[in-house]
Amino acid sequence: MSDAPKTLPLVMDAPRGRAKPPRHLADLTLAERQDAAKAAGLQGFRAKQISVHYFERLVHDPEQMTDLPSAQRAELVSTFLPDLMTSLRTQSADAGTTVKTLWKLFDGSLVESVLMRYSDRATICISSQAGCGMACPFCATGQGGLQRNMSTAEIVHQVVVGARAMANGDVAGGPGRLSNVVFMGMGEPLANYRAVMGAVRRLTDPAPEGLGLSARHVTVSTVGLVPRIKQLADEGIPVTLALSLHAPDDELRNELVPINNRFSVAETVDAARYYFDQTGRRVSIEYAMMRDINDQAHRADLLAEVLNERGRGWVHVNLIPLNEVRGSKYTRSRDEDMDEFVRRLEAGGISTTIRDTRGDEIDAACGQLAAVEG
Ligand code: SF4
Repeated sequence: MSDAPKTLPLVMDAPRGRAKPPRHLADLTLAERQDAAKAAGLQGFRAKQISVHYFERLVHDPEQMTDLPSAQRAELVSTFLPDLMTSLRTQSADAGTTVKTLWKLFDGSLVESVLMRYSDRATICISSQAGCGMACPFCATGQGGLQRNMSTAEIVHQVVVGARAMANGDVAGGPGRLSNVVFMGMGEPLANYRAVMGAVRRLTDPAPEGLGLSARHVTVSTVGLVPRIKQLADEGIPVTLALSLHAPDDELRNELVPINNRFSVAETVDAARYYFDQTGRRVSIEYAMMRDINDQAHRADLLAEVLNERGRGWVHVNLIPLNEVRGSKYTRSRDEDMDEFVRRLEAGGISTTIRDTRGDEIDAACGQLAAVEG
């Protein structure tokens, strides 16, 4: 189970020679959009107007862009707002406050996003790659391999559509504001580093350059691409880092998270600590609870030890009851084992929560809807 990963490349580029996703305004800075407008024979300020529609007013229908001259509207829309994805299916749960969308990209690749409304916030969980090359054996997405990296605009567009749904009152609870983004859908975000950083910038740039979200409300997850974690720490953007650790010892983590064969638990947790040191942002340690695999009391003690060796108060542990893949040997932990795991971590001084499993009845864990469809 653990011999192949040594060959995993650090950055999973899409196979060469494939058509690229259409260029969209969300791929570009405002200055680049102005240049693109001029190159298309349009006035530069039109780029700003159409950016206001996309990022600020969250308008989709060109007919509503009445400040754009009707003769130029079609050209502006085709230059800046080409279709990036089509909704194939939506499923809702939790009385309509969780909405999952399965998207088909321009080349037929399938990805998904999940919008979750809570009493105090609305969070969207987005994909950063079609498929994933990290091969975690308990994960539906990991079984299919990587199809390709998503573009910056494809990543951002999932959020803009979610923000629009919230603003329009399409999610149960009436009109509201999308406040949080988590990169925890399909893919390993740091394996598509450049496009993901472009997306983080676009999400946090003030409108109309971007969506104007707070960087503190953006969470980038990773299974532990150590050099990329360090690079992210040095970017100077205070996003929250979520490290999917899933095991505190190399022997088990080599099996559950194959990239561990390349970067050990010690190196990975050191990189997470570096992230905290550089940004001051508490790191979230994600730990999917798997029955009799990684949920034993001694592993809780070891996890506390591994984290405490690097200081106090710099992490929060999120235990995630595993969303089971049909036919898999990895199943969800018993409640009493999860409770004991929490008790031991807290006794070790580690702040810990069990994540609420929103959308359980609609296969909301990463990759599962696409796996069913595919
Ligand atoms: S758990 Fe995350 S990193 Fe691992 S295979 Fe699934 S999508 Fe990829």
